[in-house]
Amino acid sequence: MESQPAYDVIIVGGGPAGLAVASELSGNHRVLVLEKGVAGMTDRFWFIPPDVLDDKTRPFSYGGVTRFMTKTYSMHGDDLAWRAKLFPSYPYIKDHEILTHWLETICINGSTVLQKCAYLDHETDADGVFVGTDCGSFRARLLIDCSGYDSAIVKKYDIDQSDFYWWSVYGAIGTHPDGLGTMQVGDYMMWQTFADADPGSLNDGKPVFEYEIMDGQTSFSLILYLRKVKMDKETMKAEYYRILRNEESTSDFHNLQVTSDRWGWYPSGGLSQQIAEDRVAFAGDSACWTTPCGWGMTFILDNYRFFSEKIAECLGNDTLDRESLLSASHFRLFDKYEIATNQLATHFLANASTSELDRFIRMFMKDIDPILCEKVFTLKISQEELLGMLKAVLEEFSIVELCRLVPALGLTNLLNEVRYFAEDALLESLKKLFHAHPDTEGFNFSDQEYAG
Ligand SMILES: Cc1cc2nc3c(=O)[nH]c(=O)nc-3n(C[C@H](O)[C@H](O)[C@H](O)COP(=O)(O)OP(=O)(O)OC[C@H]3O[C@@H](n4cnc5c(N)ncnc54)[C@H](O)[C@@H]3O)c2cc1C
Repeated sequence: MESQPAYDVIIVGGGPAGLAVASELSGNHRVLVLEKGVAGMTDRFWFIPPDVLDDKTRPFSYGGVTRFMTKTYSMHGDDLAWRAKLFPSYPYIKDHEILTHWLETICINGSTVLQKCAYLDHETDADGVFVGTDCGSFRARLLIDCSGYDSAIVKKYDIDQSDFYWWSVYGAIGTHPDGLGTMQVGDYMMWQTFADADPGSLNDGKPVFEYEIMDGQTSFSLILYLRKVKMDKETMKAEYYRILRNEESTSDFHNLQVTSDRWGWYPSGGLSQQIAEDRVAFAGDSACWTTPCGWGMTFILDNYRFFSEKIAECLGNDTLDRESLLSASHFRLFDKYEIATNQLATHFLANASTSELDRFIRMFMKDIDPILCEKVFTLKISQEELLGMLKAVLEEFSIVELCRLVPALGLTNLLNEVRYFAEDALLESLKKLFHAHPDTEGFNFSDQEYAG
């Protein structure tokens, strides 16, 4: 007989997913969080759609993005800007404050966070899971992997990520001693390409440049690549500072006084809620909790309470088998198009040449209402809107071009897409047939749970 577990849950990773889930679970359970670095520190920077905030998290938000912009240099100055349409603004998160708040909640609840303690390995048995670390072994009833984009646990189980692309990102928060020039507080330069980038793509060429203006003197600017492999930090850093200081088109940033560097990697691919075995669950980047543009923090804020409630039920009923844990990952989001939309968008963004991407961006100026861009980012696009967008894309790009840009899409993904559309079409027909009978009225897939 194995020893009784000292903890109900061991969480690997003291980033946003680990601390958010631990802050909830520690209310009624003995939780141990293992963080290989310092929990509560982050090298990320977040803005989010406001509807993922609630009374607990709203106090940690401020300001926000109010204007979306693009600069498509291969189009010779065909620039685009629009006031945020879906929401009046997309707030920023006070990163250290929210992580510290979760950290304090865990400690006040009597649970433990071990700093500088790296997960090494684990083994499950009928009663629990043994976790080996570089600071000792621990036993719990359940292990939750929140260790992010480079999870050793994902690697241990050989979970297939072959269809993933990775956003590699490097940037800095800084102040503008000479003022903001033509930039305004609330600006989000979503997509700036360079005159000398064509025909390179994000997969093999120059990155795109982005920035957000947080207040009268502070910005967060960054470069982004989208590749099958993760770019190394030093290469990205050198390229970021070269672009920041020397490119003519980034002149507003040449004198930026950097206060902190920010970098990282996050997956862009399908939602993968894979559960490896009994007593092991995944959350955050390690589970690929992401939206088409990699808004992982958004996904965490939207889902951590729901996920924690479901996990608490599993602990309460002692149903920690693979199937029950899988049901904890049924999210309340509008994600039935997400897998296909995310994969299509990812392949297109990674592989299209700069001028092809600029052509796509230009479509938001003439054929597609920019609100749909915000709706894709936030997973709020309807089937009708998505079909309208696809139609416009098919008018702009030839089938030959599109086949070249999304070659790696498997037949299964396309069939899934067809299945989702068929389900909706069937539902619409049934609704019409029953003249929106009260029982079916208000029925909406977005209220349904989906197991990815
Ligand atoms: C520059 C940048 C900007 C971003 N901007 C946005 C944004 O505006 N909006 C948005 O919604 N999302 C944004 N994201 C994405 C978001 O930051 C991530 O999705 C989110 O941080 C994922 O959280 P996580 O807790 O799953 O993983 P992480 O934040 O990666 O945290 C994982 C933690 O696990 C620890 N760990 C790893 N391995 C071990 C181990 N073996 N043992 C113990 N601990 C371990 C790590 O040290 C880390 O603390 C951005 C990402 C980057 C890089």
